[in-house]
Amino acid sequence: MKVTSVCPYCGVGCLLYVHVRDGRVVGVLPHPKGPGENRLCIKGWSAHEFVHHKDRLTRPLIREGAGFREASWDEALDLVASKISEAKQVYGADSVAFLASAKATNEENYLMQKLARAAVGTNNIDHCARLCHSSTVTGMSRAFGSGAMTNSQEDLEDADAFLIIGSNTSEQHPLLARRVIRAVKRGAKLIVADPRDIPLTEYAALHLQHRPGTDIALLNAMMNAIIAEGLQDDAFIKARTKDYEALREHVQKYPPEYAEGITGVPAAKIREAAHIYGSAEKASLLFSMGITQHITGVNNVLSTANLALLTGNIGRRGTGVNPLRGQNNVQGACDVGALPDLLPGYQRAADPEARKRLGEAWKTTLPSEPGLTLTEKVNGAGDKVKIMFVMGENPLMSDPDTNHVRKQLDKLDFLVVSELFMSETAEVADVVLPAVSFAEKDGTFTATDRRVQRLYKAIEPLGEAKPDWWILGQLSTRLGYAMKYADPSEIMDEIASVAPIYRGVSYERLGGDGLRWPVPSKEHPGTPILHTEKFSRGLGKFHVVEHRPPAEEPDEEYPLLLTTGRVQFHWHTGTMTRRSPTLIDQVNEAFAEINERDAERLGIHFGDMIMVASRRGEITLRARVTGGIKEGVVFIPFHFSEAPANMLTNNAVDAESKIPEYKACAVRVSRA
Ligand code: SF4
Repeated sequence: MKVTSVCPYCGVGCLLYVHVRDGRVVGVLPHPKGPGENRLCIKGWSAHEFVHHKDRLTRPLIREGAGFREASWDEALDLVASKISEAKQVYGADSVAFLASAKATNEENYLMQKLARAAVGTNNIDHCARLCHSSTVTGMSRAFGSGAMTNSQEDLEDADAFLIIGSNTSEQHPLLARRVIRAVKRGAKLIVADPRDIPLTEYAALHLQHRPGTDIALLNAMMNAIIAEGLQDDAFIKARTKDYEALREHVQKYPPEYAEGITGVPAAKIREAAHIYGSAEKASLLFSMGITQHITGVNNVLSTANLALLTGNIGRRGTGVNPLRGQNNVQGACDVGALPDLLPGYQRAADPEARKRLGEAWKTTLPSEPGLTLTEKVNGAGDKVKIMFVMGENPLMSDPDTNHVRKQLDKLDFLVVSELFMSETAEVADVVLPAVSFAEKDGTFTATDRRVQRLYKAIEPLGEAKPDWWILGQLSTRLGYAMKYADPSEIMDEIASVAPIYRGVSYERLGGDGLRWPVPSKEHPGTPILHTEKFSRGLGKFHVVEHRPPAEEPDEEYPLLLTTGRVQFHWHTGTMTRRSPTLIDQVNEAFAEINERDAERLGIHFGDMIMVASRRGEITLRARVTGGIKEGVVFIPFHFSEAPANMLTNNAVDAESKIPEYKACAVRVSRA
């Protein structure tokens, strides 16, 4: 039997067939529909390998001393419900905090935020979008009125030029990168802006190897050069935008020679990039966490929006500002309201009208107090926050400054984790609830280009594991707010009734290639390109943004700059990929990339064990000496618990979006 599903890894959202024999998943095959078009990358091809892994959690666990004992679902859920009720009574609803999951379905994320808001009465709901694209949502909403990828994956192939900044696309979104490469082979020009020599650089007309944390200076200088050459789109600026004059005046302060001093990119290269992007008929800008994970994350995003507005590259095929979402359902988790300030469909929690509408639908009064972000929840543990429910996330590995996170989680009165495996965070929980994999449930995921796609249950849950939508419904009902759904399609019908961008979405309509929101009615075909006639906010808005250095810069004691990221073969904290034989066969060891000149100065050779230390901790791992990383910069992937990169990272955050600065902190390297 083969069952249609969606790859559980990246936001490209390739469909796949899950092959089932005798009730077990035995393999996957590519699916002709969806973004992958009959292809999968190595992670997709291996997506079945963790499903039956011997480490799967199959019974609820309750802490007993230093370990756990098995429990029934009734006992575990009664305990969780009683702890939440008690905390609510003693400390108030805002003492309870929820972390939703970019790996869970839309239906599950919707239920978790409904549980938080309607059953408990708090806006303390957030998820890992805080750590990857919260600055995108804030910045693009301010510039355009919508925080999502403006174009669809297919129409990238129509672009004449690309600027890819802060995205290692071919390793992180392989089957989307394939479209860029096809366009380049057809004649499109590619500019890569990245401190590292990433695989896509091979196809680039230009590689701008800027220092981490200098994106604004680089983009302002490109705009300076575009205006100097007269390549701005005056007609578009006049008809569709506002506040251009302020931007024009501001970028005069950023001649390419000035930006060269900040970015390390020669002025001539900046001018050449400006010429390529500014003179293209259709230029597409792609970015990811190299842009968003900075204390200037929102301003970095605004800067990308400025460049697209200046050149009229928005609202047409082959153009746009295209943030590439990392996790398979980080877009959907945001869409359905798993954010402290936004209700389903990006309706503002601070808006009394929106609260009234949702309150009527949910037959309750919604809380008006703003909720805590993920980073604020962790920092508030033991103080404002007494109880935390974490659904399928692993903050002990994924949040910055691991030692600090561990101390904070220890301060909680009660920690509940629903998980597939005993993650680092589950290990310190009071109750662990066994959840199911993508193959064991029905639901929907929303891909990076706003495409809602259906996954179908292929096998029965392992042991006593349950889907999160069932767990959340049971818990809510125990808390006195009944959430009873026969199956996830009923939950999607409810999402459609409360979130205008999903209004026309239903399971009946989600066969084939899915639907891209906004889908305002049951007859609407979906929206592949946003802002075609006018922006969601009316006129697109230019913003004046100034370069600001990272929170922590190299000094005598910590002379190098660390930047973190992922590798092609692993996913986030490795709970799934490090249980996949095919993937661990490729890479199964932590490493640090260091420039060959830095390595020579430090007496380090390729393959040596080295110690990397920051003001927050130190880790030991293997050196990969390369000429492909900018001098003065060190790169470490964050998948490996034996040398966790986040032991080193800085938890300084962007003031508005609260995204941490994973991409830049000062470190010292020595031979181990
Ligand atoms: Fe899965 Fe992304 Fe690879 Fe597609 S590109 S198979 S969605 S990991």
